[in-house]
Amino acid sequence: MSSHKHGIFGYIIRTIGVILTVSVLAGTCLVPSRVRAQKDLTVDFIEYTFQTLLGKEPEGEQYGFWYRNIKDGNTTAAGMIEMLTESEEFVEKEYSPEQTLALLTKTMTGKELAEAEKERYLSYMESGVSLRRFISDVSKTPDFASVCAQYNINPGSVEDLEPRDLNPELAVFIGEIFTEMYGRTPSAKESNVWTQYFREGKQVAPTFQQIVVSSDYSSRGVSDDQTITSLCHLMLGRDATSEEMGKYHEVMENGMSLDYVEQMIASDPSFHSRCAELGIVPGEVALTQPRDTNYEMTSFLNRLYSRLSGKAPAGEELNDFVLRISEYPSSLRSVIWDMLSTPESREILAADDDFLNTVFEVFYGYQPEQEKITSYKIALSHGVTRERVLTSILNDPAFDAKMSEYGLDTHVEKEVPKKIVALTFDDGPYTDVTMRILDALEPYGAHATFFVTGDRVVRYKDCIIRATNMGCEVGNHTWNHTTLTKISGDAVHKQIWDTCDIIYSITGTYPKVMRPVGGSYNTTVSENVGLPMILWSIDTNDWKYRDSQHVIDEVLNNVRDGDIILMHDLYETTATAVETIVPALIDSGYTLVTISELAEYKKVQMENGKPYFSMRG
Ligand code: ZN
Repeated sequence: MSSHKHGIFGYIIRTIGVILTVSVLAGTCLVPSRVRAQKDLTVDFIEYTFQTLLGKEPEGEQYGFWYRNIKDGNTTAAGMIEMLTESEEFVEKEYSPEQTLALLTKTMTGKELAEAEKERYLSYMESGVSLRRFISDVSKTPDFASVCAQYNINPGSVEDLEPRDLNPELAVFIGEIFTEMYGRTPSAKESNVWTQYFREGKQVAPTFQQIVVSSDYSSRGVSDDQTITSLCHLMLGRDATSEEMGKYHEVMENGMSLDYVEQMIASDPSFHSRCAELGIVPGEVALTQPRDTNYEMTSFLNRLYSRLSGKAPAGEELNDFVLRISEYPSSLRSVIWDMLSTPESREILAADDDFLNTVFEVFYGYQPEQEKITSYKIALSHGVTRERVLTSILNDPAFDAKMSEYGLDTHVEKEVPKKIVALTFDDGPYTDVTMRILDALEPYGAHATFFVTGDRVVRYKDCIIRATNMGCEVGNHTWNHTTLTKISGDAVHKQIWDTCDIIYSITGTYPKVMRPVGGSYNTTVSENVGLPMILWSIDTNDWKYRDSQHVIDEVLNNVRDGDIILMHDLYETTATAVETIVPALIDSGYTLVTISELAEYKKVQMENGKPYFSMRG
């Protein structure tokens, strides 16, 4: 007798319906025939209800059936009306929701349905709320009570309402969610499941997050803009203002994810009052993507990437960058290098001028002095890598100051290695030996200092460029290996500055340190040399013995933290020794550094004209 779909919930088993159905099948023959003859008020009610709802008299056993169940208290007036609206006879009438409401109002109250009520229940029905909710509500009115009193019948009420009927405003909200997000209305089952889900306290904001990433939604190919518009409709119950939309656009253009915008919407007071009205829990949007954790950093990296590559980064790329920098703030420099290494970036910044100007502009916001540009162009034109140049540019304290504006603490104190030593090589370069030494250092990222004579720089340019690219230091060892104590102050000055100039013409960098030939210096040298004078604490005498084992023993038997070790990159025996010394020192826990790095780690402010033999602690 019922074509109504009951849904999946165990608690909506219709006990009364089952009893009545069984009675119809098995009990009709038991109805006494005198019932019809007696025709009391109950019979009138049955006739009245059939007439108004179905437009006909009850037929045959229908009289007896309803009569007996009402008299036995198995059903009430409200229960009978509810059952009739679910009967095949009623369903076959195909009344519109509006007609159905009007008929029921007429039957139950004898009156017309107020316009506002009609609108409210129509919107409920559109959202899948069943008619039972309406019957239940009307059954509680005085009008229904008086109609029932007229027939001396128990009005009763409709029990066991389904979740969607228990909270019809919530069902309407769910109907809106389905229409807006899935482009369809929910089935009765979906309406019940979702209503129950929220009634149990499930959080709304995270649910929207899940909807947006669900395949049902994402397969619709909706733009982020449309998604934001829909979320505002649903979560705020209104359109976003143009100001709000502008803000949402801005954060997404700055690289934040849709989650971030959802969090902004979910923090709007309108969302919270809407949830309070519906009796549901707003909840919070979880930000799980690294890029959403630091707006300043993400928007900076996004701008940077866009500027360097000519396109916005993918969300995953941004997540990766943010994650690296969050874990190691000092890794920003390598992240920047990665951005500059993309094919797009290499294409856009193909010219060295563009590369340098862009890097300065994006990091410091100004055009650098021509002098700086010139020096970097000199370096680049001779084969110094962009990575090395970038390292130099970004070592400026101004970089750290600028990055702090984006909430990035890149000014992380360098971790001072426990034991450090500076290998130094004089009198080169000499390709056959210098290159072997560089080969020995390179696998360990180890650094050394090469004190070169000016007259060899051009000829052995490749050694100097490679050493520079490896992070090694090029020091000044006079122009032509002149013992400075034997010449005038002016001549000392010229020996040093001619050498500085020729090194600058290749690397774009002036040497910061010098080594006096033979370790000889006096007051005249000190006053005219213009650079710190680097002597040594371990002399391997490699030039004298030309014996690799002797060099190895001298170093490994005597080395201490802060030592400066003297060797010469002119002898194959020295290169052979270095091939053993470098891994041995690394194994013993030493970090191999340049003279400038040694001073930095040991916090020694080197002064021009002053001798340094070691920087032992
Ligand atoms: Zn020398």
